[in-house]
Amino acid sequence: MYCGECAGVCPRNLIEVREISLNFNEEECKDCQICLQVCPVKALEKKE
Ligand code: SF4
Repeated sequence: MYCGECAGVCPRNLIEVREISLNFNEEECKDCQICLQVCPVKALEKKE
Protein backbone atom coordinates (compact mmCIF):
# COMPACT_ATOMS: atom_id res chain seq x y z
CA MET A 1 0.00 0.00 0.00
CA TYR A 2 3.11 2.18 -0.13
CA CYS A 3 2.48 3.89 3.20
CA GLY A 4 6.17 4.85 3.53
CA GLU A 5 6.75 3.45 7.03
CA CYS A 6 9.77 1.48 5.80
CA ALA A 7 11.35 4.50 4.16
CA GLY A 8 10.94 6.48 7.36
CA VAL A 9 12.86 4.01 9.55
CA CYS A 10 15.77 2.98 7.33
CA PRO A 11 18.90 4.28 9.11
CA ARG A 12 20.70 4.46 5.77
CA ASN A 13 17.85 6.13 3.88
CA LEU A 14 17.88 3.46 1.17
CA ILE A 15 14.15 3.23 0.45
CA GLU A 16 12.29 5.66 -1.77
CA VAL A 17 8.51 5.41 -1.89
CA ARG A 18 6.96 6.13 -5.25
CA GLU A 19 3.33 6.28 -6.24
CA ILE A 20 3.01 2.58 -7.08
CA SER A 21 6.41 1.15 -6.24
CA LEU A 22 9.38 1.21 -3.88
CA ASN A 23 12.91 1.98 -4.96
CA PHE A 24 15.47 0.16 -2.86
CA ASN A 25 19.27 0.41 -2.90
CA GLU A 26 20.14 -3.23 -2.36
CA GLU A 27 23.90 -2.79 -2.58
CA GLU A 28 23.99 -0.47 0.44
CA CYS A 29 21.59 -2.49 2.61
CA LYS A 30 23.06 -3.71 5.93
CA ASP A 31 20.26 -6.22 6.53
CA CYS A 32 19.12 -4.70 9.82
CA GLN A 33 15.52 -5.64 8.84
CA ILE A 34 13.90 -2.69 10.61
CA CYS A 35 11.93 -1.98 7.44
CA LEU A 36 10.47 -5.50 7.47
CA GLN A 37 9.37 -5.10 11.08
CA VAL A 38 7.50 -1.83 10.64
CA CYS A 39 5.48 -2.73 7.56
CA PRO A 40 1.84 -2.88 8.78
CA VAL A 41 0.82 -5.40 6.12
CA LYS A 42 4.03 -7.48 6.06
CA ALA A 43 4.56 -6.67 2.40
CA LEU A 44 8.35 -6.78 2.61
CA GLU A 45 10.35 -9.95 2.79
CA LYS A 46 14.01 -10.80 2.84
CA LYS A 47 15.47 -12.12 -0.41
CA GLU A 48 17.49 -15.29 0.21
S1 SF4 B 1 17.24 -3.80 6.06
FE1 SF4 B 1 18.35 -2.44 4.62
S2 SF4 B 1 16.74 -1.23 3.63
FE2 SF4 B 1 15.82 -2.15 5.47
S3 SF4 B 1 16.04 -0.59 7.08
FE3 SF4 B 1 17.85 -1.94 7.21
S4 SF4 B 1 19.43 -0.99 5.93
FE4 SF4 B 1 17.46 -0.04 5.38
